[in-house]
Amino acid sequence: MTSARDSRFIQALRARVRGEVRESEPLARHSTYRIGGPASVLLPGSAEDVGLALALAAEQGTPWFALGLGSNLLLPDEGLDALVIRLGKGLDRCDDLGQGRWRLGAGLPQPLAARRSAEAGFSGLHRFVGVPGTVGGGVYMNAGCHGGDWAGIVRQVTVVDPSGRDAILARDQIGFAYRGSGLGRRIVLEAEVELMPSDPPAIQAEVAELFRWRQEETPFNQPCCGSVFTNPGGPGRGKAGGVRTAGQLIDAAGLKGARQGGVEISRQHANYFVNLGGGTAADVRALIALARSTVRERFGVRLETEVKIVRPDGSFIPADQD
Ligand SMILES: Cc1cc2nc3c(=O)[nH]c(=O)nc-3n(C[C@H](O)[C@H](O)[C@H](O)COP(=O)(O)OP(=O)(O)OC[C@H]3O[C@@H](n4cnc5c(N)ncnc54)[C@H](O)[C@@H]3O)c2cc1C
Repeated sequence: MTSARDSRFIQALRARVRGEVRESEPLARHSTYRIGGPASVLLPGSAEDVGLALALAAEQGTPWFALGLGSNLLLPDEGLDALVIRLGKGLDRCDDLGQGRWRLGAGLPQPLAARRSAEAGFSGLHRFVGVPGTVGGGVYMNAGCHGGDWAGIVRQVTVVDPSGRDAILARDQIGFAYRGSGLGRRIVLEAEVELMPSDPPAIQAEVAELFRWRQEETPFNQPCCGSVFTNPGGPGRGKAGGVRTAGQLIDAAGLKGARQGGVEISRQHANYFVNLGGGTAADVRALIALARSTVRERFGVRLETEVKIVRPDGSFIPADQD
């Protein structure tokens, strides 16, 4: 097995791809938490680069990790001993195919896709205006909000498998679930979605209202990963009474404003933990453990993480573990 940090691996990768390869790149630059140590990072120049990098990694037995905007991840303070393939520019097409169909590159920011499709008079993507990830991360996570998710609009996705081969998967082959998919070790290159024609001024007014809500009700402009925990009763539970949301439970446990190192449980929205500056993954994990144990003691509810906690080898800590 060749480490992604090995200079021979970096050289071989640079010889194959058009995109940029950065050594010892701080992952904090690629995470909305602004947390994460160093790794070898490929910024692919095209979809082809992704397949070429995966083929090289397969030949050399080098672990790899797909990264979008890092808006749903807690990356390790030690960094990653894996090739980080950061999908962004170069895979950011946004093509209106007509009749409500759009082809979107995996690296396109969801808010941009939301605004462009709304300006053209289509609804469905518009709800993602305040969800700061990429299209690829949104599909992989089946991100959702305000009554909809990616599963509701995707027709098909183009993926590349770990050997570097492309495939097109129809919607029912994607294995969409609540905040997840069955894509496993495949990287999303692009997604084709089907949107509903809408009255342009009405849909743009809705976009403006959703964005206003994000800015006023959540710590939108502070480094964070959005919701730390999933809602115990599933999506949207708690709004009309009944089972409380994760945020309501953490708030009722008196934990708003609790602080560990540079990280605080937001005073504005208790399911958001914010990096006030100099925060570490260890700080966030300590607050996750605190919120989980306090809520369990007080209300008998076991919280599961929505944020994906990454180990230094690129694997994930299960959602029910600290
Ligand atoms: C302020 C804020 C608000 C948020 N609000 C919401 C919300 O309302 N609803 C919601 O669902 N989420 C929300 N999130 C979380 C996050 O934005 C979404 O989950 C988003 O879709 C993740 O996209 P990303 O590109 O950042 O993925 P990343 O965080 O980079 O990655 C997430 C997972 O997807 C994988 N991945 C990323 N790109 C690809 C790809 N191209 N192919 C295969 N795998 C890939 C990664 O390996 C990882 O497992 C919020 C986050 C923030 C910071």
